[in-house]
Amino acid sequence: MGGEKILVVDDEASVRGAVSQVLREDGHQVSAVASGEEALAVFGKEPYPLVVSDIRLGSMDGLELLKEIKRIHSDTEVVIMTGHASMDNAITAMRAGAYDYLVKPFEDLQLISNAASRAFEKIRLRAENRQLMETLKKQNDDLEHINQFLRDQASRDGLTGLYNHRYFQEAVQNELARSDRHNHPCSLIFMDVDFFKQYNDTHGHMAGDRLLHTLGKILTERLRSCAMVARYGGEEFVILLPETPKEGALVVAEKIRRRIEEHPFPGRDTQPDGKVTVSLGVVTFPQDGSNRVTLMQRADQALYRAKQDGRNRVCTGVE
Ligand code: GH3
Ligand code: MG
Ligand code: MG
Repeated sequence: MGGEKILVVDDEASVRGAVSQVLREDGHQVSAVASGEEALAVFGKEPYPLVVSDIRLGSMDGLELLKEIKRIHSDTEVVIMTGHASMDNAITAMRAGAYDYLVKPFEDLQLISNAASRAFEKIRLRAENRQLMETLKKQNDDLEHINQFLRDQASRDGLTGLYNHRYFQEAVQNELARSDRHNHPCSLIFMDVDFFKQYNDTHGHMAGDRLLHTLGKILTERLRSCAMVARYGGEEFVILLPETPKEGALVVAEKIRRRIEEHPFPGRDTQPDGKVTVSLGVVTFPQDGSNRVTLMQRADQALYRAKQDGRNRVCTGVE
Protein backbone atom coordinates (compact mmCIF):
# COMPACT_ATOMS: atom_id res chain seq x y z
CA MET A 1 0.00 0.00 0.00
CA GLY A 2 1.44 3.22 -1.06
CA GLY A 3 0.16 5.74 1.47
CA GLU A 4 -2.21 7.49 -0.92
CA LYS A 5 -4.07 10.62 0.12
CA ILE A 6 -7.79 10.33 0.62
CA LEU A 7 -10.33 12.94 1.68
CA VAL A 8 -13.36 11.53 3.54
CA VAL A 9 -16.46 13.72 3.75
CA ASP A 10 -19.43 12.81 5.94
CA ASP A 11 -21.53 14.82 8.36
CA GLU A 12 -21.92 11.82 10.67
CA ALA A 13 -18.92 11.46 12.91
CA SER A 14 -19.37 7.68 13.28
CA VAL A 15 -19.31 7.08 9.53
CA ARG A 16 -16.38 9.45 9.10
CA GLY A 17 -14.53 7.61 11.81
CA ALA A 18 -15.25 4.13 10.49
CA VAL A 19 -14.38 4.91 6.88
CA SER A 20 -11.22 6.78 7.85
CA GLN A 21 -10.09 3.95 10.06
CA VAL A 22 -10.50 1.29 7.40
CA LEU A 23 -8.57 3.37 4.88
CA ARG A 24 -5.85 4.24 7.38
CA GLU A 25 -5.44 0.57 8.19
CA ASP A 26 -4.84 0.05 4.49
CA GLY A 27 -1.95 2.47 4.83
CA HIS A 28 -3.52 5.57 3.27
CA GLN A 29 -3.17 9.12 4.54
CA VAL A 30 -6.71 10.11 5.36
CA SER A 31 -8.18 13.54 6.11
CA ALA A 32 -11.78 13.66 7.24
CA VAL A 33 -14.18 16.61 7.17
CA ALA A 34 -17.85 17.07 8.01
CA SER A 35 -19.16 19.28 5.17
CA GLY A 36 -18.89 20.05 1.51
CA GLU A 37 -17.59 23.54 2.26
CA GLU A 38 -14.82 22.19 4.48
CA ALA A 39 -14.01 19.59 1.87
CA LEU A 40 -13.61 22.26 -0.81
CA ALA A 41 -11.46 24.40 1.46
CA VAL A 42 -9.10 21.46 2.05
CA PHE A 43 -9.24 20.31 -1.57
CA GLY A 44 -8.62 23.82 -2.86
CA LYS A 45 -5.25 23.86 -1.10
CA GLU A 46 -4.22 20.48 -2.40
CA PRO A 47 -6.20 18.29 -4.81
CA TYR A 48 -6.59 14.78 -3.41
CA PRO A 49 -6.51 11.91 -5.87
CA LEU A 50 -9.47 10.26 -4.14
CA VAL A 51 -12.48 11.72 -2.32
CA VAL A 52 -14.99 9.50 -0.51
CA SER A 53 -18.08 11.58 0.13
CA ASP A 54 -21.54 11.13 1.56
CA ILE A 55 -24.22 12.21 -0.86
CA ARG A 56 -26.29 13.93 1.82
CA LEU A 57 -24.35 16.63 3.50
CA GLY A 58 -25.56 19.84 5.13
CA SER A 59 -25.92 22.86 2.90
CA MET A 60 -23.84 21.58 -0.02
CA ASP A 61 -24.73 18.03 -1.03
CA GLY A 62 -22.36 15.38 -2.32
CA LEU A 63 -23.46 15.84 -5.90
CA GLU A 64 -22.54 19.52 -5.88
CA LEU A 65 -19.26 18.69 -4.19
CA LEU A 66 -18.56 16.04 -6.83
CA LYS A 67 -19.13 18.51 -9.66
CA GLU A 68 -17.00 21.15 -8.02
CA ILE A 69 -14.16 18.71 -7.42
CA LYS A 70 -14.27 17.47 -11.01
CA ARG A 71 -14.21 21.07 -12.16
CA ILE A 72 -11.16 21.90 -10.04
CA HIS A 73 -9.25 18.69 -10.76
CA SER A 74 -10.85 16.34 -13.26
CA ASP A 75 -8.39 13.53 -12.49
CA THR A 76 -9.65 13.16 -8.94
CA GLU A 77 -11.82 10.10 -8.43
CA VAL A 78 -14.89 10.43 -6.23
CA VAL A 79 -16.61 7.55 -4.44
CA ILE A 80 -20.11 8.45 -3.25
CA MET A 81 -21.70 7.02 -0.12
CA THR A 82 -25.47 6.73 -0.12
CA GLY A 83 -28.26 5.20 1.94
CA HIS A 84 -30.42 2.35 0.62
CA ALA A 85 -33.32 4.76 0.29
CA SER A 86 -31.50 7.06 -2.11
CA MET A 87 -30.07 4.63 -4.66
CA ASP A 88 -31.32 6.83 -7.51
CA ASN A 89 -29.02 9.55 -6.19
CA ALA A 90 -26.13 7.13 -6.52
CA ILE A 91 -27.00 6.60 -10.16
CA THR A 92 -27.17 10.36 -10.73
CA ALA A 93 -23.75 10.68 -9.10
CA MET A 94 -22.29 7.98 -11.34
CA ARG A 95 -23.65 9.83 -14.36
CA ALA A 96 -22.06 13.01 -13.07
CA GLY A 97 -18.67 11.31 -13.01
CA ALA A 98 -18.43 9.49 -9.70
CA TYR A 99 -16.13 6.50 -9.92
CA ASP A 100 -18.16 4.19 -7.64
CA TYR A 101 -20.69 4.22 -4.84
CA LEU A 102 -20.94 2.58 -1.43
CA VAL A 103 -24.23 1.79 0.26
CA LYS A 104 -24.71 2.65 3.92
CA PRO A 105 -24.89 1.05 6.36
CA PHE A 106 -21.84 -0.88 5.19
CA GLU A 107 -22.42 -4.63 4.97
CA ASP A 108 -18.74 -5.24 4.98
CA LEU A 109 -16.00 -2.66 5.62
CA GLN A 110 -13.86 -4.50 3.11
CA LEU A 111 -16.07 -2.98 0.39
CA ILE A 112 -14.67 0.46 1.28
CA SER A 113 -11.15 -0.87 1.02
CA ASN A 114 -11.87 -2.50 -2.31
CA ALA A 115 -13.46 0.60 -3.81
CA ALA A 116 -10.45 2.69 -2.82
CA SER A 117 -8.01 0.13 -4.25
CA ARG A 118 -9.87 0.02 -7.55
CA ALA A 119 -9.96 3.81 -7.73
CA PHE A 120 -6.20 4.00 -7.15
CA GLU A 121 -5.63 1.28 -9.71
CA LYS A 122 -7.56 3.34 -12.24
CA ILE A 123 -5.54 6.43 -11.32
CA ARG A 124 -2.30 4.48 -11.69
CA LEU A 125 -3.32 3.05 -15.07
CA ARG A 126 -4.31 6.47 -16.31
CA ALA A 127 -0.94 7.91 -15.31
CA GLU A 128 0.82 4.95 -16.94
CA ASN A 129 -1.25 5.40 -20.06
CA ARG A 130 -0.39 9.07 -20.24
CA GLN A 131 3.29 8.29 -19.85
CA LEU A 132 2.99 5.73 -22.61
CA MET A 133 1.24 8.18 -24.91
CA GLU A 134 3.93 10.73 -24.26
CA THR A 135 6.67 8.22 -25.00
CA LEU A 136 4.87 7.15 -28.15
CA LYS A 137 4.44 10.71 -29.26
CA LYS A 138 8.10 11.43 -28.68
CA GLN A 139 9.12 8.30 -30.58
CA ASN A 140 6.78 9.32 -33.38
CA ASP A 141 8.33 12.76 -33.55
CA ASP A 142 11.80 11.22 -33.60
CA LEU A 143 10.81 8.85 -36.38
CA GLU A 144 9.28 11.66 -38.39
CA HIS A 145 12.52 13.59 -37.96
CA ILE A 146 14.64 10.62 -39.07
CA ASN A 147 12.32 9.97 -42.00
CA GLN A 148 12.60 13.54 -43.13
CA PHE A 149 16.38 13.30 -42.88
CA LEU A 150 16.44 10.03 -44.85
CA ARG A 151 14.09 11.40 -47.50
CA ASP A 152 16.38 14.35 -47.86
CA GLN A 153 19.50 12.17 -47.93
CA ALA A 154 17.99 9.93 -50.59
CA SER A 155 17.49 12.89 -52.87
CA ARG A 156 20.94 14.46 -52.36
CA ASP A 157 24.37 13.89 -53.79
CA GLY A 158 26.94 13.19 -51.09
CA LEU A 159 29.85 15.15 -52.55
CA THR A 160 28.15 18.42 -53.47
CA GLY A 161 24.95 18.35 -51.41
CA LEU A 162 23.05 19.12 -54.60
CA TYR A 163 20.04 17.06 -55.67
CA ASN A 164 20.93 13.77 -57.27
CA HIS A 165 20.09 12.27 -60.63
CA ARG A 166 17.07 10.30 -59.38
CA TYR A 167 15.48 13.27 -57.67
CA PHE A 168 16.14 15.48 -60.64
CA GLN A 169 14.32 13.14 -63.05
CA GLU A 170 11.27 13.31 -60.82
CA ALA A 171 11.46 17.09 -60.50
CA VAL A 172 11.77 17.57 -64.26
CA GLN A 173 8.81 15.27 -64.84
CA ASN A 174 6.68 17.31 -62.43
CA GLU A 175 7.84 20.64 -63.76
CA LEU A 176 7.12 19.65 -67.36
CA ALA A 177 3.61 18.56 -66.40
CA ARG A 178 3.09 21.86 -64.61
CA SER A 179 4.47 23.94 -67.51
CA ASP A 180 2.22 22.01 -69.86
CA ARG A 181 -0.86 22.71 -67.71
CA HIS A 182 -0.15 26.41 -67.45
CA ASN A 183 1.14 26.72 -70.98
CA HIS A 184 4.43 28.18 -69.70
CA PRO A 185 7.93 27.53 -70.96
CA CYS A 186 10.64 26.02 -68.79
CA SER A 187 14.31 25.49 -69.54
CA LEU A 188 17.08 23.02 -68.81
CA ILE A 189 20.82 23.63 -68.73
CA PHE A 190 23.27 20.74 -69.01
CA MET A 191 26.80 21.54 -67.92
CA ASP A 192 30.01 19.52 -68.13
CA VAL A 193 33.48 20.41 -66.90
CA ASP A 194 36.04 20.80 -69.68
CA PHE A 195 39.16 18.61 -69.55
CA PHE A 196 38.29 17.40 -66.10
CA LYS A 197 40.23 14.18 -66.58
CA GLN A 198 43.33 16.28 -67.06
CA TYR A 199 42.63 18.23 -63.86
CA ASN A 200 42.24 14.96 -61.96
CA ASP A 201 45.39 13.52 -63.51
CA THR A 202 47.42 16.60 -62.66
CA HIS A 203 46.12 17.43 -59.17
CA GLY A 204 44.69 14.16 -57.96
CA HIS A 205 41.19 12.86 -57.47
CA MET A 206 40.73 14.63 -54.12
CA ALA A 207 41.47 18.03 -55.66
CA GLY A 208 38.99 17.10 -58.38
CA ASP A 209 36.38 16.39 -55.74
CA ARG A 210 37.01 19.78 -54.14
CA LEU A 211 36.57 21.44 -57.49
CA LEU A 212 33.23 19.70 -57.99
CA HIS A 213 32.15 20.83 -54.54
CA THR A 214 33.06 24.45 -55.33
CA LEU A 215 31.23 24.24 -58.64
CA GLY A 216 28.12 23.11 -56.81
CA LYS A 217 28.35 26.18 -54.60
CA ILE A 218 28.86 28.55 -57.51
CA LEU A 219 25.83 27.09 -59.26
CA THR A 220 23.49 27.48 -56.31
CA GLU A 221 24.79 30.85 -55.17
CA ARG A 222 23.02 33.35 -57.31
CA LEU A 223 20.25 31.41 -59.00
CA ARG A 224 16.60 32.25 -58.42
CA SER A 225 15.20 30.26 -55.55
CA CYS A 226 12.84 28.31 -57.79
CA ALA A 227 15.72 27.05 -59.93
CA MET A 228 16.89 23.54 -59.14
CA VAL A 229 20.47 22.36 -59.43
CA ALA A 230 21.46 18.72 -59.48
CA ARG A 231 24.62 16.72 -59.98
CA TYR A 232 23.72 14.59 -62.93
CA GLY A 233 26.79 12.39 -63.09
CA GLY A 234 30.51 12.56 -62.42
CA GLU A 235 31.34 16.09 -63.55
CA GLU A 236 28.00 16.87 -65.14
CA PHE A 237 25.44 19.19 -63.65
CA VAL A 238 21.90 20.13 -64.60
CA ILE A 239 19.83 23.17 -63.83
CA LEU A 240 16.08 23.31 -64.09
CA LEU A 241 14.67 26.78 -64.66
CA PRO A 242 10.90 26.89 -64.23
CA GLU A 243 8.94 29.58 -66.10
CA THR A 244 12.00 30.54 -68.10
CA PRO A 245 12.03 31.01 -71.89
CA LYS A 246 15.09 30.30 -74.04
CA GLU A 247 16.49 33.86 -73.92
CA GLY A 248 16.38 33.93 -70.11
CA ALA A 249 18.02 30.51 -69.85
CA LEU A 250 20.79 31.58 -72.24
CA VAL A 251 21.52 34.59 -70.05
CA VAL A 252 21.74 32.35 -66.97
CA ALA A 253 23.98 29.82 -68.77
CA GLU A 254 26.31 32.54 -70.02
CA LYS A 255 26.62 34.05 -66.54
CA ILE A 256 27.50 30.65 -65.13
CA ARG A 257 30.07 30.05 -67.87
CA ARG A 258 31.74 33.36 -67.17
CA ARG A 259 31.64 33.03 -63.41
CA ILE A 260 33.39 29.65 -63.58
CA GLU A 261 35.93 30.82 -66.14
CA GLU A 262 36.80 33.68 -63.79
CA HIS A 263 36.85 31.68 -60.58
CA PRO A 264 40.39 31.23 -59.21
CA PHE A 265 40.24 27.44 -58.76
CA PRO A 266 43.48 26.13 -57.26
CA GLY A 267 45.75 24.67 -59.93
CA ARG A 268 43.75 26.08 -62.83
CA ASP A 269 46.88 27.32 -64.55
CA THR A 270 47.70 23.76 -65.65
CA GLN A 271 44.37 23.48 -67.52
CA PRO A 272 44.16 24.43 -71.24
CA ASP A 273 43.94 28.23 -71.51
CA GLY A 274 45.06 28.45 -67.87
CA LYS A 275 41.56 28.22 -66.45
CA VAL A 276 38.85 25.83 -65.41
CA THR A 277 35.97 26.06 -67.85
CA VAL A 278 32.64 24.40 -68.54
CA SER A 279 30.50 23.76 -71.59
CA LEU A 280 26.76 24.20 -71.46
CA GLY A 281 23.73 23.05 -73.46
CA VAL A 282 20.43 24.89 -73.13
CA VAL A 283 17.00 23.59 -74.14
CA THR A 284 13.50 24.89 -73.61
CA PHE A 285 10.16 23.19 -73.21
CA PRO A 286 8.13 22.79 -75.34
CA GLN A 287 10.02 24.06 -78.39
CA ASP A 288 13.01 21.69 -78.07
CA GLY A 289 11.07 18.66 -76.90
CA SER A 290 7.60 17.95 -75.60
CA ASN A 291 8.61 15.33 -73.06
CA ARG A 292 11.39 14.65 -70.61
CA VAL A 293 13.25 12.08 -72.70
CA THR A 294 13.44 14.05 -75.93
CA LEU A 295 14.16 17.26 -74.06
CA MET A 296 17.09 15.69 -72.25
CA GLN A 297 18.41 14.14 -75.43
CA ARG A 298 18.35 17.57 -77.03
CA ALA A 299 20.15 19.06 -74.03
CA ASP A 300 22.79 16.37 -74.33
CA GLN A 301 23.20 17.15 -78.04
CA ALA A 302 23.48 20.88 -77.35
CA LEU A 303 26.19 20.19 -74.78
CA TYR A 304 27.99 17.91 -77.22
CA ARG A 305 27.94 20.68 -79.78
CA ALA A 306 29.42 23.12 -77.27
CA LYS A 307 32.26 20.64 -76.77
CA GLN A 308 32.70 20.17 -80.51
CA ASP A 309 32.73 23.89 -81.12
CA GLY A 310 35.69 24.32 -78.81
CA ARG A 311 34.37 24.13 -75.20
CA ASN A 312 33.94 27.00 -72.71
CA ARG A 313 30.73 27.99 -74.48
CA VAL A 314 26.94 27.80 -74.45
CA CYS A 315 24.99 26.05 -77.20
CA THR A 316 21.23 25.75 -77.62
CA GLY A 317 18.89 23.02 -78.73
CA VAL A 318 17.94 24.70 -82.00
CA GLU A 319 20.11 25.50 -84.96
P1 GH3 B 1 35.63 16.98 -71.77
O1 GH3 B 1 36.12 18.36 -71.88
O2 GH3 B 1 35.39 16.34 -73.07
O3 GH3 B 1 34.42 16.89 -70.91
O4 GH3 B 1 36.77 16.14 -71.07
P2 GH3 B 1 36.78 15.52 -69.66
O5 GH3 B 1 38.18 15.13 -69.34
O6 GH3 B 1 36.12 16.42 -68.69
O7 GH3 B 1 35.83 14.31 -69.87
P3 GH3 B 1 35.99 12.77 -69.61
O8 GH3 B 1 34.59 12.23 -69.72
O9 GH3 B 1 37.05 12.19 -70.46
O10 GH3 B 1 36.46 12.66 -68.11
C1 GH3 B 1 35.64 12.93 -67.04
C2 GH3 B 1 36.45 12.68 -65.81
O11 GH3 B 1 35.72 12.99 -64.63
C3 GH3 B 1 36.88 11.27 -65.65
C4 GH3 B 1 36.58 10.89 -64.23
O12 GH3 B 1 37.66 10.34 -63.55
C5 GH3 B 1 36.24 12.21 -63.59
N1 GH3 B 1 35.26 12.08 -62.56
C6 GH3 B 1 34.00 11.60 -62.63
N2 GH3 B 1 33.41 11.63 -61.44
C7 GH3 B 1 34.31 12.16 -60.56
C8 GH3 B 1 34.29 12.44 -59.17
O13 GH3 B 1 33.29 12.24 -58.48
N3 GH3 B 1 35.39 12.98 -58.63
C9 GH3 B 1 36.52 13.23 -59.36
N4 GH3 B 1 37.55 13.77 -58.77
N5 GH3 B 1 36.56 12.96 -60.65
C10 GH3 B 1 35.47 12.43 -61.27
MG1 MG C 1 34.08 16.84 -68.94
MG1 MG D 1 31.52 14.24 -68.70
